[in-house]
Amino acid sequence: MKSFKLKLHWQILIALIIAVFWGYFFREQIHLISWMGDLFLRALKMIIIPLIFSSIVSGVTSMGNGKNLGRLGLKTISYYMLTSLFAILTGLFLVNLIRPGVGVDLGFAAPVDGLVNDTKSVKDIFIRMIPENIISAMVEGNILAIIFFSILFGFFINKVRADYQQTLTSFFDGFFEVMMKITLFIIRFTPLGILGIVAKEVGRNAEQLGAIAGSMAIYMLTVIVALTVHAFVTLPAIVKFVGKAHPYRHLKNMITPLLTAFSTSSSSATLPLTIDAVENESGVSNKITSFTLPLGATINMDGTALYECVAAMFIAQVYGVDLSFGQQALVVVTALLASIGAAGIPMAGLVMITIILTAVNLPLEGVGLILAVDRVLDMYRTSVNVWSDSCGAVIIAKSEGETTLV
Ligand code: ASP
Repeated sequence: MKSFKLKLHWQILIALIIAVFWGYFFREQIHLISWMGDLFLRALKMIIIPLIFSSIVSGVTSMGNGKNLGRLGLKTISYYMLTSLFAILTGLFLVNLIRPGVGVDLGFAAPVDGLVNDTKSVKDIFIRMIPENIISAMVEGNILAIIFFSILFGFFINKVRADYQQTLTSFFDGFFEVMMKITLFIIRFTPLGILGIVAKEVGRNAEQLGAIAGSMAIYMLTVIVALTVHAFVTLPAIVKFVGKAHPYRHLKNMITPLLTAFSTSSSSATLPLTIDAVENESGVSNKITSFTLPLGATINMDGTALYECVAAMFIAQVYGVDLSFGQQALVVVTALLASIGAAGIPMAGLVMITIILTAVNLPLEGVGLILAVDRVLDMYRTSVNVWSDSCGAVIIAKSEGETTLV
């Protein structure tokens, strides 16, 4: 007899429901399950750096000559920029239409500690892309620098003596396969991990959120509607018409990583699951996923870009500042840059808003206004970030002539 086994995404959904219930009603007993979330997150973080390194090196070496890399790189970056831009414009349109910040009371703005110290300039982001020391970049988790080094490393493996090339290529292919095996092992614990993470978050935020959500409801709604339009209309349309693939079949394949992104609020932590689903469920080749997905998890953040724009416009509205067309264009450009620079970790987008506020001369304290409801919006925007990465992989695979499963 075949044993009954519930599909992973159902297990995760059930875990989510139990977690919300537990977090809300058994706030005192959260420690009983929160350790599972901590363990799960630690395990995911443990594999991110070696996974990114091995996957990019093996992906780039499999591309052969530099021409392939250049073509794929160009396509990937174009997709990332364009979809992020569409996302921002959707947000900009809705925030101008709904005007959630008009008439909001400034009274509940929470002070934000250490904001100024955290502010990174756009120039910094680009400069930090080239690591001074690759080992410390790995230790610090400077993903963009690791990606840069990995691409370079993979590229030059193809330029050395044939026997070295062979050894190194099979070494990194094997290394990557081991990392994926570890990933698959960790993925099995996703429902338990999510149970712990979400119960803890619900327990911590439930009361505070209830009190503040009322006055912030329209702002939250604006972000949510805009993200929904981008995720369920814009991106599927691109998958269908540009990628000539089935967007909703692909969406179904992505449920596990999307729910994980939602629960962890981290595209980086979700990356192992994203690679697994895009490759094994939607049938995109390893050559494409291993290059596009780690890059996407770091620089392609449609949800964050959209959120940056809506949040900055909201702050302007609350402070009664009417931004001119030129200034709104500046918001669009800086939102794009801020999303590229944001790390794939929880609440990274919140800090990056300071870049936009500085660009259009808005008070940095404005971040305090949106602090309280950031966590909830972070969950949804992270899922949209991951969803966009996965759609990109499918579209690029199709454009390279691959026959995927969607
Ligand atoms: N949490 C988001 C991510 O990991 C980044 C953000 O805060 O917007 O994709």
